[in-house]
Amino acid sequence: MEPLVQAGCCDRDTERSQKLSSIETTAERALQLCSRIVETEVVALPDAVGRVSAGDTVSLFSLPIHDHSAVDGYALGSSGKGSFRIVGRLTAGETPKDALNKSEAIRIMTGAPVPEGTECVVMQEHASVESGYVSPTFEVPVGDNVRRTGEDVRAFDTLVRAGTRLDARHTALLTASGLQNAGVVRKVRVAVLSTGNELRDTGVGMGPGHIFDTNRPMLRALLSSNRTEITDLGIERDNLEAITATLKNAARTHDLIITSGGVSVGEEDHLKPAVVAAGGSIESWRMAIKPGKPVALGKIGNAVYLGLPGNPLACFVDFLLLGRPIIDGLSGATRRDPLVQNAKAAFEWTRRPGRREFFPCNIVGTSEEGLPLLEKTGRAGSARLLPLIEADGLGVVDADCTDVQPGSHLQFYPFRADMGL
Ligand code: AMP
Ligand code: MG
Repeated sequence: MEPLVQAGCCDRDTERSQKLSSIETTAERALQLCSRIVETEVVALPDAVGRVSAGDTVSLFSLPIHDHSAVDGYALGSSGKGSFRIVGRLTAGETPKDALNKSEAIRIMTGAPVPEGTECVVMQEHASVESGYVSPTFEVPVGDNVRRTGEDVRAFDTLVRAGTRLDARHTALLTASGLQNAGVVRKVRVAVLSTGNELRDTGVGMGPGHIFDTNRPMLRALLSSNRTEITDLGIERDNLEAITATLKNAARTHDLIITSGGVSVGEEDHLKPAVVAAGGSIESWRMAIKPGKPVALGKIGNAVYLGLPGNPLACFVDFLLLGRPIIDGLSGATRRDPLVQNAKAAFEWTRRPGRREFFPCNIVGTSEEGLPLLEKTGRAGSARLLPLIEADGLGVVDADCTDVQPGSHLQFYPFRADMGL
């Protein structure tokens, strides 16, 4: 590993000489710091969306629950062709009384249980009816249009595995299986703190030299899923004692503390010494990415500590790269890497190599190979927000790239997934 462990210390000269680490190595280390939350709770299915399932759920029923017709038509006592005497009518919700014999049929609607003896169902569009007899217009194969008991799920099949993030699909399957509740991991308790003398909340008196605290509301929005319980710790001044006290206090009741600002090596960057003063351990990481190079990882008591950089775009990128996996690690969710797509550039760009670079971009077309063509939105900078708003996602170039030309290969992380769950 290439870690830069400085448990209990913060030597700034050592830090400057550290080599850069990859996102993967840093994320791996972040995950090592996470112990899975063991407390679980039972919640009603409508409230379970977004939560992480605590154990395997086994089906008590078969699905479909009974053999039934997939179409409006006629259930036939034998397959193939022929003429069948219509002996009755069945709609969804009713139950068949008698079995069909080989020469009989019954008028049947979608969802109605088929009578015993049914070999197939012919769609009404493929049947002609005359004087109480039905004749399929083609040879109907055995089993056609009959949904058999258990063809989807058999009793005692596993429906949902432990560690699954529950979404609308699980709601559907669990409900179809007669369940009302789900056992889930308790929510991850996350505390969010901004640090900086210059920061003010909106609506609070602004003076010269002040800016609005952007990261805290942004992080709260990024964290706002049913999986987390967020505590807003507000803004702390650049003061070692004050930050130490806040961190120490938060560590008692949270699984994760996320701060922004103050993790570089400036004279007013107090976060790393504060973690140590709060009784924790801290590691400085310099990721080979742009924006978002400096981050801090640590532990204060049982709480994981994630120190994000102050520049909003850097804070945003590092939260996605590290914060999300940490929440997964704490909640025991099965690891899920972000969806990355191959893409092509529609722009020219000369850049200094050394760090993998993320930049807001949007899709402006499709290349000959069918890949998205990307254009940068505005001039990226770790403190700029407008290009982010205009973007469809983040484009990525490798660390050694010096020159991007129209048609150059890029990677793309889309923000939006219309089929996303
Ligand atoms: P720092 O990481 O504290 O050195 O901050 C880097 C830059 O990000 C500075 O220009 C800060 O003013 C700015 N910054 C820090 N925290 C925030 C925040 N919460 N919202 C907006 N900008 C911030
Ligand atoms: Mg600062």
